[in-house]
Amino acid sequence: MKKFKTESKKLLDLMINSIYTNREIFLRELISNASDAVDKLYFRSLVDDAVKVNRAELGITVSYDADERSVTVSDNGLGMTKDELDKNLGTIAHSDSFEFKNDENEVRDNADVDIIGQFGVGFYSAFMVGKKVRVVSRALGSDEAWAWESNGVDGYTVSEAERAEHGTDVIVYLKDDTDDDGYSAFATEHRLRSLIKRYSNYVRYPIRMAVTTTCEIPVPEDAGDDALPATEERVELQVINSMIPIWKRNRSEVSQEEYDEFYKTDFHDFEAPARTVSLHAEGTLTYDALLFVPSHAPYDMYSKDYKKGLALYSSGVLIMEKCEELVPDHFNFVRGVVDSADLTLNISRETLQHDRQLRAIARRIEKKIKQDLVAMRDDDREAYDEFFKEFGRTMKFGVYSSYGMANDTLADLLLFYSAKQKKLITLDEYIADAPEGADSIFFATGDSIERMASTPLVTTVLAKGYDVLLCNENVDEFCMMALGSYAPSEPAVGEEEPKRFTIKNVSSEDLDLASADEKEQAEKATEENAELFAAMKEALGDRVEKVIVSTRVTEAPCVLTTEGAVSLKMAQMFKEAPDGGPEDAPAVRVVMEVNAAHPVFETLRAAQAAGDGEKVRIYTGILYDQALLIEGLPIDDALAYAKAVTHLMD
Ligand code: ADP
Repeated sequence: MKKFKTESKKLLDLMINSIYTNREIFLRELISNASDAVDKLYFRSLVDDAVKVNRAELGITVSYDADERSVTVSDNGLGMTKDELDKNLGTIAHSDSFEFKNDENEVRDNADVDIIGQFGVGFYSAFMVGKKVRVVSRALGSDEAWAWESNGVDGYTVSEAERAEHGTDVIVYLKDDTDDDGYSAFATEHRLRSLIKRYSNYVRYPIRMAVTTTCEIPVPEDAGDDALPATEERVELQVINSMIPIWKRNRSEVSQEEYDEFYKTDFHDFEAPARTVSLHAEGTLTYDALLFVPSHAPYDMYSKDYKKGLALYSSGVLIMEKCEELVPDHFNFVRGVVDSADLTLNISRETLQHDRQLRAIARRIEKKIKQDLVAMRDDDREAYDEFFKEFGRTMKFGVYSSYGMANDTLADLLLFYSAKQKKLITLDEYIADAPEGADSIFFATGDSIERMASTPLVTTVLAKGYDVLLCNENVDEFCMMALGSYAPSEPAVGEEEPKRFTIKNVSSEDLDLASADEKEQAEKATEENAELFAAMKEALGDRVEKVIVSTRVTEAPCVLTTEGAVSLKMAQMFKEAPDGGPEDAPAVRVVMEVNAAHPVFETLRAAQAAGDGEKVRIYTGILYDQALLIEGLPIDDALAYAKAVTHLMD
């Protein structure tokens, strides 16, 4: 007996102990695996002349044995080799990317759907109803069959078996009935039939079941006048599912429940989608598309393994499971299908990439998704906030990685945390709330929203009546830089054209918030203290460009601002990048802005006047390090800082 990998075992435990109460979905999961296997076979036959299949014969059979208390899902798909049985069913797919929380009870209580939703754990759901599961499979082109068997507790066996043709049978031996749970009901015609109808109606291959029908036997001619017709029970294989692709039907004819079930079955998600969008295009290019925005990001969304794409069909036949060309990177979370009779069947990856038709479809899809997201943003903000928490990063990254090309599509979809309103707001909302005459959108970057809200750089801008967008994701600053500026789509009342707002980091030197008078005063004070500032600059060396009197700080003794596009935080990110180092950090031009009204400034002036260069040097170093610490940035030499502070206390 082979043991399950640890993670698989833990997940099995959770499933079996019914973290997921909706056990009947096991059938949907097994059927969708079967359908995938048939799909794979059919696709193989399209690209490999040596593989010949008759499409009419492809399908899935569901059967049961009431005495043995078992349910069987069979398919004549691609099948699995011995190795594949071991690999595919012995470990939960990609389980190593998932970390179990330490406290399993916590998981049990509040994450029913989440935990399962994170994986393709479809097959394992069989153990929610089965005390034993046996999988007999024969791979296409192989003449041997193998049986995988497990009680779902700690391991499984793989042994030789018999199977006439390629394909797979999954036999679920039902658990014993208890007072609360009647598992036996699953081994009935009625129940299985209704589950197939309910969950798997749109599976594209026929799902057949032996159905008992009662028919009348005609009364023979020579029977007496009052002879009654006898009845006979016949068992015949019937196709249970409708198979008409759901995407071909009009939105008005299909209920949201049906869309949800289709989505869950075909895209292996345990949660219904957040949005469903259907699209029917006619004309030079005829196609149907059905798109979904998931409710949650898949666990691998932000990893390199994640593959975007929509399933591509030609007249109901799957050509490609994930056609990347159909969705832009910034909407890579969208799942769905596109079906067009106008696309040729024998398309290869290369030709697809250059296909003009495909590009036309992709453009239309992008527009449609945008429209739908705007509708969600405006009509159901709560849902949009949730959506944004899951996928906002992707869109922000899209702004950055397209070098601003996608700004028109994405900018008004973005949300940022407002320091004033203490919630996520759009750039339009920022502008609507901006003081009269404002022409900038201010943002700050840092690790924690709370801390950012109280840094001197932020509070001074807030004090002037402007809001600050608090950005705590690494991508934010890059996104803001790529945006550069923003203009609402509609002009404000009394305006001809919408005003364009410049997007500014609160740490940039040139915020332009001071009055001409304040600026003049600061410049004068800077000149008057030229000697002191030269000494301070010397103490800090390359770390700063210059030291000046600030027009903005009111409470802290000083702040560090930057000239040009690169902020301290950004330089820091380059240094910390997995393959980066100090030499990768772009040059950053730091300005130390001193608060002339602060008592520390007087102390420095006095030290300078008394010719105490050593004191000026030490104090300047401390001020610089403190300013970094306040902004949540690391200091170069913690030991030197500690020594200097200790020296002060002496
Ligand atoms: P998922 O289907 O999400 O990948 P499952 O746990 O349901 O996860 O299945 C694991 C793997 O086992 C599948 O990816 C597939 O390779 C294989 N598999 C499951 N059922 C079948 C089947 N009926 N025919 C062929 N392969 C199957």
